Amino acid sequence: MAHPEANQEQIKVIVIGAGLGGCATALAMNHHGHKVIVLEKLKQFRRLGDSLGFGENALKLLERWGGKELYHRLTSIGNQAADMQIRRWRDGKILAQQPLMDMAGYIGHRGDYHDALLQAVRDAGIELLTGCEVVAFDEDAPAVVLADGSRLEADLIIGADGIKSRARELVLGFRDAPKSSGYSCWRAYFPGEHLKNDPRCREFVDHDCVNIWIGEDTHLVQNTLRGGKEFNWIITRKLSHEADIEIKESWFQDGDMDEVRRHIVDLDPRIAAALEKTESCLDWKICYRDPLPTWVSKSHRITLVGDSCHPHLPTSAQGASQATESGAVLATRTYEKLRFPRTRLSQGNGEDLRDRWHNALKNLDEGAEVDPESVKMRNRWLYAFDAEEDTLQRWDEVSKQGLGQTIVARPHNPVVKKLVDFAS
Ligand SMILES: Cc1cc2nc3c(=O)[nH]c(=O)nc-3n(C[C@H](O)[C@H](O)[C@H](O)COP(=O)(O)OP(=O)(O)OC[C@H]3O[C@@H](n4cnc5c(N)ncnc54)[C@H](O)[C@@H]3O)c2cc1C
Repeated sequence: MAHPEANQEQIKVIVIGAGLGGCATALAMNHHGHKVIVLEKLKQFRRLGDSLGFGENALKLLERWGGKELYHRLTSIGNQAADMQIRRWRDGKILAQQPLMDMAGYIGHRGDYHDALLQAVRDAGIELLTGCEVVAFDEDAPAVVLADGSRLEADLIIGADGIKSRARELVLGFRDAPKSSGYSCWRAYFPGEHLKNDPRCREFVDHDCVNIWIGEDTHLVQNTLRGGKEFNWIITRKLSHEADIEIKESWFQDGDMDEVRRHIVDLDPRIAAALEKTESCLDWKICYRDPLPTWVSKSHRITLVGDSCHPHLPTSAQGASQATESGAVLATRTYEKLRFPRTRLSQGNGEDLRDRWHNALKNLDEGAEVDPESVKMRNRWLYAFDAEEDTLQRWDEVSKQGLGQTIVARPHNPVVKKLVDFAS
C-alpha cells in the first residue's frame, strides 16, 4: 500500500530511537520504499520492562511490513490464555470474564517483543546505529547532531525517542514537563518457579492466565508469560499527595515491599501469597501530559511518533499498538490531523477503565452483585481498524483542512487555547 504523499519517490528518513515505536516506524518507512537510518542512544539492548499488550490493529500492520514470520513470532510471545477474569479485591470472586483478545490483545514481555522487532529491522536491511544519542537539531536542513558532534541530514526526521523526548522540545518550542497522573504502579516480574510449590497460588502459574483484582482506588493485574515460566504482578494505586512528590518519572525506581505488604492486607489471600513471596519490585510513577498542540515542527520536516507525542496509561494496553499505527500514517501535518482524534480516544480508554475499576466497589455492601459489563475492558472497537486503509480513504479530505481545524485538543490546555485563539 503506497503512502499518498510518497509520489513513489524515495526519501531519506532518520528515526530517532529504536524502541518499539521506532522499530515499527522504520519497518513502515522501509516497506514503502524509503531509505531509513535508525539512531539509538543505547549501546546495547537489554530485556527491559515487563508485560505489554499488542493489539491486532498493530499486528496486522507489522505482518504487512515484516511478513508472516514476524506476525507468528509476535503472537507466540503473547500470553495464550483464552479469557481473563476480573475479580473482587477482598475474596477474588469473579465479577466478569472476557476474551483476552477483546482487551489487551497479546500480552507479552516488552523485551521479547523488542527483540523480535529489532530482528525484523535488521532482516529488512535497515541501518540501525547504536550508541548514537541525538543532542541537537537543525530544523530547516533538517539534520540531527549526535553527542560526538557529527551531523546527519535527511528529508524527514522522526522523533520516536520516548516519554522523555528531546525531539518533542524542538517540535513544541518549549519543555513539556510531565504532570503526575495521581497514580503509581508497583511492578514485579520473576520466574513462576517461586510460586509453584505453594498450593495457595500455584493455580496462577501452572498455565498461562490473566487475572485482575479490583478494589477501591486500586487494582492488581497478574499474568504469566511463557506458559507460566514467568510471573508478573502490577498494582496501580492512587497516590497520597506526599508520596506523589517523592516518586520520580523513571522506569527503574525501586519500590518498597513493606509498603506493598501494608497495601494488600485485605487482598484475596491466594494472590497475596504470591506477593508475600516477592523480594523486590519497581515503583513506576504514571505521568501524564496534556495532549500536545502539535506533533510536527514548523518546517514540517521533523515529526513525533509514539510515547514522545501520545503516551498511554497502562490500562489502555495500547501504547505500543498506537505507536505502530502512527508509524503507518506518518509524514506531514496531515498525519497529526488523521491520528489525533483516534489516539485521544485510545488514551481516554485507559483513564475510563482505571476509574471504573477503582470505583466499582465503592459504596457497595460487602458481597453485593456488580454488573459484569461495568468492569469489562472496552478495547475491541480498536482492533478492526486499519491505519493505512483509513489514511488512504481520508487523506484528500483531511489534508485540505486549515490550521484552525487541526487544533482539536482539550480547551483547558492553556497552550492549545492560545493557539486556537491565534488561529481564529
Ligand atoms: C525501559 C523501558 C521499560 C518499559 N516497560 C514497559 C512495560 O513494562 N510495559 C509497558 O506497557 N510499557 C513499557 N514501556 C513503554 C513502552 O515501551 C512504550 O509505551 C511503547 O512501546 C511506545 O514506545 P516508543 O518507541 O514510543 O518509546 P520507547 O519504547 O520508550 O523507546 C524510545 C527509544 O528512544 C531512545 N532514545 C531516547 N532519546 C534518544 C536520543 N536523544 N537519541 C537516540 N535515541 C534516543 C531510547 O533509548 C529508547 O530506546 C517501557 C519503556 C522503556 C523505555
